[in-house]
Amino acid sequence: MNTAQARAQGTSANAGDAAIVVERLVKLYGDKAAVRDLSFTVARGEIFALLGPNGAGKTTTVEILEGYRTADSGSARVLGLDPRRDGARLKPRIGVMLQQDGIYNYLTTRELLELFARFYREPEDPTRLLQVVGLSDAAATRCRQLSGGQKRRLSLALALVGRPELIFLDEPTTGMDPQARRATWEMLRELRERGSTLLLTTHFMDEAERLADRIAIIDHGELLALDTPAGLTREQSTTTTEVRFTAHGAVDVAALGSLPGARMVRSDAPGSYVVETGDAAALLVELTTALHAAGITLSELRVGRTSLEDVFLQLTGKEMRE
Ligand code: ATP
Repeated sequence: MNTAQARAQGTSANAGDAAIVVERLVKLYGDKAAVRDLSFTVARGEIFALLGPNGAGKTTTVEILEGYRTADSGSARVLGLDPRRDGARLKPRIGVMLQQDGIYNYLTTRELLELFARFYREPEDPTRLLQVVGLSDAAATRCRQLSGGQKRRLSLALALVGRPELIFLDEPTTGMDPQARRATWEMLRELRERGSTLLLTTHFMDEAERLADRIAIIDHGELLALDTPAGLTREQSTTTTEVRFTAHGAVDVAALGSLPGARMVRSDAPGSYVVETGDAAALLVELTTALHAAGITLSELRVGRTSLEDVFLQLTGKEMRE
């Protein structure tokens, strides 16, 4: 089986060849468990996303894998090594993109990248890397003067400068504008094509869905689901279709819920509604008839499968918001 097939399958990677193996990991803060009995395996060459709301335990998990925190029980192997005990051997082989700003605020972008490049035996060329992350024009700018999105891209460049086999990215595109996000996703895909393994944490559904080969949904430190993006939505999609519409006028949600074809109705935003159904064709007839009778004008109507956001909502009971 090649890497793409293994990725597509969504099954656990062969632990012997895995980039990361986490088994029954537990991390307690006082009597509160930030990570509870967490197990997953990341295959070499895949982009793996930890998706979860604030406080889900994503950063704690990643920091254990990076060797910055100690687990209370369970085990973690990263590139076959123990992140805590073998830290000195592991550090040159991994890249870490941190959430916080650095402490080197008075250095310029280029100076900081050149400083970090000196820590590695075969670093990337800083000039090329600045180009890759779109910071060439900001090479002479002091770090403290960079915008939020530029700081994220500098953090990414710092994570990549040592040509790591495995890259940890904590919220890689938070604070970026849509263009920078897309450019970053493209860059991360290129890194995968070059054989790197990427483990990222994210709040963003679209980021996980478009970028990741597999997604682990976690909440309260527990693994709720682990599959490919398609796999996560497939089970729901075979039985449930969503009809989404926007309309002007007072829509009676309770009345919609009593339509024979409707399983569930909700309003995502003012004027925007979602009806779940097992029979889209029948529901469309009922829905358009009811709205027409009530004198309500439809401005948009869409029929589609369940989104990752819906799966997330069902699993965690929470909307995914920053
Ligand atoms: P976010 O998306 O907000 O970064 P997260 O999923 O990364 O959240 P963590 O930062 O891992 O979540 O936090 C998990 C839980 O552990 C939270 O309830 C948090 O308050 C708690 N926690 C994290 N670090 C500590 C610490 N050093 N001491 C005590 N509690 C902590």
